[in-house]
Amino acid sequence: MTTQTKKFITPEDVIGLRIKCSHSQCQAEIVLPIDKPLEAKNLAFCPICRRPWLREEHNSLEVAVDHAVQALTNLKSGLKSGHWNFALTLEIKPEESAE
Ligand SMILES: [Zn+2]
Repeated sequence: MTTQTKKFITPEDVIGLRIKCSHSQCQAEIVLPIDKPLEAKNLAFCPICRRPWLREEHNSLEVAVDHAVQALTNLKSGLKSGHWNFALTLEIKPEESAE
């Protein structure tokens, strides 16, 4: 028999944004609280090894990250400010089982 458990988080469960450098020699990590204004431009480059993070030569995720954090913040405060007739949750992938 196979069972599957679905996992959901609420927007309130998201408390921080973590960025970890994928360069094997660096692995620097920043965790920023999601409830503080985020300056995505400060994440353009790794603060330790200076490799590009959100900003590459012809591509940038700065606006997308700014928008995603802002949208989440707006959603959290919108949900708090009313008596909604629903509960909003986000489904997350099941953890990979270590076999
Ligand atoms: Zn780095």
